[in-house]
Amino acid sequence: MAQKQYSVRLFIDADLINDSGVVLDRAQAHYVSTVMRKQVGETLVLFNGRDGEWLGHLQEIKKNHALVHITELLRPQVEEADIQLFFAPVKKIQTSLIIQKATELGVKEIIPVQTIRTNADRMKAEKLQLQAIEAAEQSERLTVPIIQEIQKLDQVLKNLEDDRALVFCHERYDGKDAVSVLGSVKGITKWAVLVGPEGGFTDEERKRIMSCDQAHTLSLGPRILRAETAVIAALTLLQALQGDWRSAIN
Ligand code: SAH
Repeated sequence: MAQKQYSVRLFIDADLINDSGVVLDRAQAHYVSTVMRKQVGETLVLFNGRDGEWLGHLQEIKKNHALVHITELLRPQVEEADIQLFFAPVKKIQTSLIIQKATELGVKEIIPVQTIRTNADRMKAEKLQLQAIEAAEQSERLTVPIIQEIQKLDQVLKNLEDDRALVFCHERYDGKDAVSVLGSVKGITKWAVLVGPEGGFTDEERKRIMSCDQAHTLSLGPRILRAETAVIAALTLLQALQGDWRSAIN
């Protein structure tokens, strides 16, 4: 079967400039040559979150590095949806799933939040950042979401900008349905989604969150979802109703 032409897509820190060269590090060189079996002269795709997406040709492959010659702009950089995700870290596997799915669903920044009932494995932001890079490479994003160090819930609420809407996922909320709540928000371009820990928020935490001017309380239906399911469901609704799933023709 014929292979897809540009099957390797990598995130790189370096500037991407037409007709210049960039160096892939040891891990990327290994991935390109040993895992993907690319050879000198073959193409790959690079992005850095700033300069758009570029086609490059492999010039040299060594054990510790590889050289790529940048040859063609494939997609210019565009402004992306401004969505932050606040989530209370859960067990390692579920946290990884949250990072991966939130990246695929287009969040810009991920901020782990310490709540009263957060009961997480030790979380390494650096490791999660690598998972976000991998998900961004695979999902053809032009950026990689930034993973912040864990912050306290109070601090997160205090630092929330006035013009950012906070979508608060409340597992026992019996107000308006999610589509009406999200669909009726007007004039907002900055969003944040807040999902709690497996043990849920305390009543006191809920009160504090709901007393924020920026908060829009959201029910994701009559069943209690796992945190990772709630993240996927809330981001799906947000992208469909307010984000980049909407067609430009609407
Ligand atoms: N143990 C808690 C449930 C926590 S679920 C309890 O029994 O109440 C983890 C998080 O997912 C919640 O804090 C909430 O943010 C989100 N969530 C789960 N189900 C939801 C629902 N039906 N609607 C909105 N948010 C939900």
